[in-house]
Amino acid sequence: MDKNNIIYKEKLIIAGPCSAESEEQLLKTATELKTTGVVDVLRAGIWKPRTNPGGFEGPGTRGLAWLSKAKDLTGLKIATEVANDKHVEDALHFNVDILWIGARTTVNPFSVQNIADALKGTKATVLIKNPVNPDIKLWIGAIERLQKVGIENIGLIHRGFSSYGNTQYRNAPIWQIPIEMKRLFPEIPMICDPSHICGNRTNLQEISQISLDLAYRGLIIESHTNPDEAWTDKDQQITPNVLKDIYNQLIWKSSSTNQSGYLQELAALREQINLYDDDLLRLISSRMKVSEKIGKLKRDNAVTVLQSSRWNEILERMLQKGEKLDLSNDFIKAYMEALHVESIRIQELIKELS
Ligand code: PEP
Ligand code: MN
Repeated sequence: MDKNNIIYKEKLIIAGPCSAESEEQLLKTATELKTTGVVDVLRAGIWKPRTNPGGFEGPGTRGLAWLSKAKDLTGLKIATEVANDKHVEDALHFNVDILWIGARTTVNPFSVQNIADALKGTKATVLIKNPVNPDIKLWIGAIERLQKVGIENIGLIHRGFSSYGNTQYRNAPIWQIPIEMKRLFPEIPMICDPSHICGNRTNLQEISQISLDLAYRGLIIESHTNPDEAWTDKDQQITPNVLKDIYNQLIWKSSSTNQSGYLQELAALREQINLYDDDLLRLISSRMKVSEKIGKLKRDNAVTVLQSSRWNEILERMLQKGEKLDLSNDFIKAYMEALHVESIRIQELIKELS
């Protein structure tokens, strides 16, 4: 791991158009991004994975020459998406500084392995986007495949997860997944892609700030000199000036501080949390002992373990109580579901013992 590699920089900003459209567009965007003074790396899609046929699929290899020109002109480092061995070879040939594996590729172990094989023996720097579906194992598998061929400088991009139907997001963030990845791979920098999470321009600031509050190292944001005319992802792209405004309003936080009193006060509050957690576990265990008794009663009376109407009643009751205690419906639902599933597991065990 080369600590001087750009991907380990704090406050890393990668920006650029979704797609490289023409040499002129790319050089103009690169120049404006450089002028903002806040951008480290220019991104541009050269090969675009499109959901439907007929759309613009990127300029292909000739676009690499434009990227390389933009690098010479501005001094910005350059990054592009690769989806197969040929892309890797071409991108490295044009000295692309950072390759990223797109969400639709991370999902496919054949493709990831094909890319890994092409990267073997190189010193490439690679960012891995989360897979489109919320399967953490595929994300982990992609890291492992790259590590196995000796790639040392790896970063992760959180771009959210797709789902059916209209949601508030283009790709729901499901923050638990990147948080778990950060726990499993504390050395690997996590970068947020608010553009593909939001799918619009209005929520970029908010999502970017949440990611910084979660100690992400940087952002990758789609930026175009004329977003309304962009050939791909026009709804979510912003001009370099708007990017600068967003950047200026961000609050970057440090992971800790030596300021007097902070550590002592934090330790005291954390001790309180630990005591509450101990109490909660004791209470949950007592609750499960009661479930066990109920399980025996149901077994002896040949009654089903699942009692849907009772479950409904418990859930409704707790949702109402939770609301009065300022606990969100989503949280109460997830918490009660976890308790209910464990309770069913215990009652099923009793049934098996009969
Ligand atoms: C992109 O960055 O333009 C892109 C295609 O992203 P994703 O792989 O996250 O969909
Ligand atoms: Mn895009």
